[in-house]
Amino acid sequence: MAANKTMLFLPGDGIGPEAMREVRRVIGWFDRRRAVRFDIKEGLVGGASIDAKGTPLTDETMADAMSVDAVLFGAVGGPKWDTGSFDMKPERAILRLRKEMGLYANLRPATVFPELAEASTLKPEIIAGLDIMILRELTGGVYFGEPRGIETLPDGTKRAVDTQVYTTPEIERIARVAFELARKRRNKVCSVEKANVMHTGVLWRETVTALHARSYRDVELVHMYADNCAMQLVRNPKQFDVIVTDNLFGDMLSDLASMLTGSLGMLPSASLGDADATGRRKALYEPIHGSAPDIAGKDLANPLATMLSFAMLLRYSFDLPDDAALIENAARDVLSKGIRTADIMQAGCTKVSTTGMGDAVLAALERLGA
Ligand code: NAD
Repeated sequence: MAANKTMLFLPGDGIGPEAMREVRRVIGWFDRRRAVRFDIKEGLVGGASIDAKGTPLTDETMADAMSVDAVLFGAVGGPKWDTGSFDMKPERAILRLRKEMGLYANLRPATVFPELAEASTLKPEIIAGLDIMILRELTGGVYFGEPRGIETLPDGTKRAVDTQVYTTPEIERIARVAFELARKRRNKVCSVEKANVMHTGVLWRETVTALHARSYRDVELVHMYADNCAMQLVRNPKQFDVIVTDNLFGDMLSDLASMLTGSLGMLPSASLGDADATGRRKALYEPIHGSAPDIAGKDLANPLATMLSFAMLLRYSFDLPDDAALIENAARDVLSKGIRTADIMQAGCTKVSTTGMGDAVLAALERLGA
């Protein structure tokens, strides 16, 4: 039997624990049927950790995150903790995890299951079958560059500065992830910046072009300005396969792309760091939605985004693409049978609870994985 894979589960706040509970049931199904077993630790994060430990993330939990093969994160935050100081915000936990784990590559797939094409604000023919990957650089650029801050000038007015900085190695490592991902998909990379007006854009384009020429000539590469990319994502999103871009543009373009799909409760994400000598990358997987305090504790949350995050974990951290596809196909099968949580409910479909969606996915796994 293969060595056990280790995971840290951080359910967090609000609907995080409810969605994670359904993932546990999926793992139970795999444990009963597969050679690979999973060792799971669970920890507190966000508001739950503030309440129990007085901090959004303890050093012990941080150490656990560093030692496992992969982290599955639920969601953090809620009105209860909104009044705390900056360092006592539940969201600080996710920033610390990203920073200390060195998670520089943020993968945000935007996939539209054909059954949910009507949920988008765009015409179904524009987005049905959409399957694109936005790759955002996560630890550099204008959110971290120095100098930054606000100063008061001698005349009493103020001056604010943020600095966009990128180095060749930072651009190369994210571009490398983009090309490798593309090779496992439809082999196309669109690199996005604003080389027409920004020096970092010029260096970005030069670096990506040089790396492509050196190591990835088999992958189709195009360059696009970020403003045009925003337009193209709405006009004809299916032209893209992998889009790679910096922290700032990636923040916006990935949110734009996620809304093409029309449903927050369906979208997973992954954040990856560098591979170590054994080839293992630090990795954290999470749904893109937040803790949804408005529906927390009511058995209403859609658990599919968290389940699909677990599928990404199987694909990218554990190299188990067949098992990942089994979960994705089970989700598709459930949707094709008209089973819906409230957030994706459509006329003529059957509305189910969080638990009901978990039941339906398990039944689909039974059917498809037999
Ligand atoms: P949200 O994603 O929590 O909710 C937005 C809306 O979508 C709500 O109406 C919610 O009910 C609905 N929704 C979200 N996920 C759903 C699901 N799985 N099933 C059904 N409906 C779902 O965003 P928000 O309301 O802006 O933020 C709420 C809290 O979450 C805030 O404290 C915010 O800071 C935090 N947040 C955390 C993360 C994270 O942990 N990574 C991300 C975003 C927001």
